[in-house]
Amino acid sequence: MTARTSRVLHRSLRETPPKAIGGDGIYLIAEDGRRVIDASGGAAVSCLGHQHPRVIAAIAKQTSQLAYAHTAFFSSEPAEALAEVLVGHEPGGLAYAYFVSGGSEAVEASIKLARQYFIERGEPQRQHFIARRQSYHGNTLGALAAGGNAWRRAPYAPLLSSAFSHVSPAFTYHEKHESETDAQFVARLAAELEAEFQRLGPDTVAAFLAEPVVGATAGAVTAPEGYFKAVRAICDRHGALLILDEVMSGMGRTGTTHAWEQEGVAPDIQAIAKGLGGGYQPIGAMLASKRIIDTIRAGSGAFQHGHTYLAHPLACAAALAVQDVIREDGLLAQVRERGRQLEQRLTERFGNHRHVGDIRGRGLFWAIELVADRAARTPFDPALKLHQKIKAEALASGLGCYPGGGTVDGVRGDHVLLAPPYITSAQEIDLIVDKLGAAVDNVLDNINH
Ligand code: PLP
Repeated sequence: MTARTSRVLHRSLRETPPKAIGGDGIYLIAEDGRRVIDASGGAAVSCLGHQHPRVIAAIAKQTSQLAYAHTAFFSSEPAEALAEVLVGHEPGGLAYAYFVSGGSEAVEASIKLARQYFIERGEPQRQHFIARRQSYHGNTLGALAAGGNAWRRAPYAPLLSSAFSHVSPAFTYHEKHESETDAQFVARLAAELEAEFQRLGPDTVAAFLAEPVVGATAGAVTAPEGYFKAVRAICDRHGALLILDEVMSGMGRTGTTHAWEQEGVAPDIQAIAKGLGGGYQPIGAMLASKRIIDTIRAGSGAFQHGHTYLAHPLACAAALAVQDVIREDGLLAQVRERGRQLEQRLTERFGNHRHVGDIRGRGLFWAIELVADRAARTPFDPALKLHQKIKAEALASGLGCYPGGGTVDGVRGDHVLLAPPYITSAQEIDLIVDKLGAAVDNVLDNINH
C-alpha cells in the first residue's frame, strides 16, 4: 500500500489501495504490474474471472444500442431475456424477477415484498421478521437490521428496526453440542425458531430470512442435513414466508444454480446478486413466487417500491451473457469438480494443522477457521488481528483471499474464505492452496515467536 493523496473516500482512511488496471482470467493486474490471483472473486463476485470476451462483447453491443431507459416507461430486451433465463422455468415456484443494483437492494426488496404481500392478503399484523445471528444481509438499514453481524450492526444499533429478531445459526462447528447428533442439533434449532414464533405471536411473523450457506460473517457455513426442511415446515405451519439470501452463495457458487436445490426446499422469495453479473456490472435480483405476485396483482396491482436503476439494460445484458457462458460452457459441473479438488487439497494442507479447527464449504465456496487451540476450539485473541495479517501476507505473495474476523460471535474468531472463479483450472487450485498455506504459516510463525 502506498501513501498517496486521493479524493476517493476509500474503505480505509489511512491508506490508499493500489490501482487495479487490468484483469486476465483469474488474475487481477495492479498498476505496478503485479499479478494477483483473485481466489475469493473479490467477495464471491467474480464467477467468470476477469475480462471474459463474450461478456465484454455483450456489454459493448448493448452500449451501442441503448444504455438506459427508465422502467416507469420502458422494459428492455436484456431485462426480458434475463428474467426468462432465471425464472422462465419457474424453479421452485419462483416466477418473477425484480432487477436491482446489488445484494442489499435485493434483500430490501425481499423484505418489502413480504410485508406488502401480507397487507394485500389482509394480514397487516404480520410485521416481524426472524433472521439468524452470525449472518449478513447487506449494509442498507433494513438489510443491516435483518443481519446478525454484531460488529457491522453495533454503530447503527439505534437506527435498526425492532421488527427483526435473531435466532441461533446452524453453525455446527460452534453451536452443536458434542453429545448431540446432527438430527438432535437440527431439532434444537427448530425448537428455538418455533419458540421465537410463539414469543412474537405466530400470526405476526412475515418471514424467516437466512443465507443457505453463510458467507462472509462466519465463513462458508453449510447447514446440517434437514435444517432447511425443518425451518420451511415451521414457516408453512405458521403461514410465514421463507426468504433465502443467496447473494453470495447463489448462481452456481455451490455447484447448483441455487444453493437451496441441495437442501430439498425452495424459498418464497430469494435474493441473488454477486454471481449473477460476475462483477461485470452492478446487478442483483429478487426472485418471487407466482403466489406472491398473483396476490399483489389481484390487489393493489403494483409492488410499492422502486429505484432509478431498476433493470438497467447494460447490467441485464452483462448478467445475461454471464449466465449464458455458465450454461454453454458447462461451468456448474466444473464448480463441482474443482470444488471436490479444493476440498481435498485444503484437507491435505490444513487437515492436521494445529491452528486450523475447521475446513468447510460446498462447491467453490470454502473456508478454513483458525483456532488457538484445536481441542478446545478456542479462537485467537482478536487483538492479534490474525485475519488482517493473513490477508496482507497472502496479497504480498500474489494471492487475493477473503479473511474475516468475529467468526464465532461477531468479535472472536478468524477465518479465510475462498471463492475462486468457476473457470479456475486444476493447477490454479493447487497454487491457491499452496499460497494460502504459506501465508497462514508465515503469519502464525511470527505470532508464535
Ligand atoms: N447478502 C449477502 C449474503 C451478502 O454476502 C452480501 C454482500 O456481501 C449482501 C447481502 C449485500 O450485497 P451488496 O454488498 O451487493 O449490497
